Amino acid sequence: MDLELKERHGVRDLDSLLHDRGLRNTPQRQLIYRIVASSPQHLSAVDVQQRLEDTMPGISLPTVYATLDLFAELGIVRKMALAEGPVLYDTGQRHPHAHMVCRQCGRIFDLDILPVNDADVAAAANQGFQVDSGDLVLHGLCADCQARGRISAVNAVTAVTKEQRKAA
Ligand SMILES: [Zn+2]
Ligand SMILES: [Zn+2]
Repeated sequence: MDLELKERHGVRDLDSLLHDRGLRNTPQRQLIYRIVASSPQHLSAVDVQQRLEDTMPGISLPTVYATLDLFAELGIVRKMALAEGPVLYDTGQRHPHAHMVCRQCGRIFDLDILPVNDADVAAAANQGFQVDSGDLVLHGLCADCQARGRISAVNAVTAVTKEQRKAA
């Protein structure tokens, strides 16, 4: 599936991909790609612009958006539009993966399973649809928020016990 191939593209391929489109691989484009590729988190355009401030200040937000959207079009960056918050960009550099979103803290975690498998692609094809790409987003509570939930439950129980003692 070419989905996987696309996601394995790295900085080296950026040159040839841009060249195929008649575009130049400017230092600005290289840097923006590296920022997204090297980040363990999924970044918004604003995050990327903030990170550019140190090395290449003065790049406008619309330029950052345009560059990230170009990368998405080239298939080397994935655009993740979640129900809440800004669009996030992810290189999926290591391998294709799915995402888990915490409903409490809003953090996004990678999950090492294929976001689209061949059966999904075949099912779509049965309805005459040709799949280019796909996302799998699982929603729930992260480990930290689950632990926090347990702690506040314990505190609530302790508070109630104290109240009962006072009343007794
Ligand atoms: Zn959480
Ligand atoms: Zn990811």
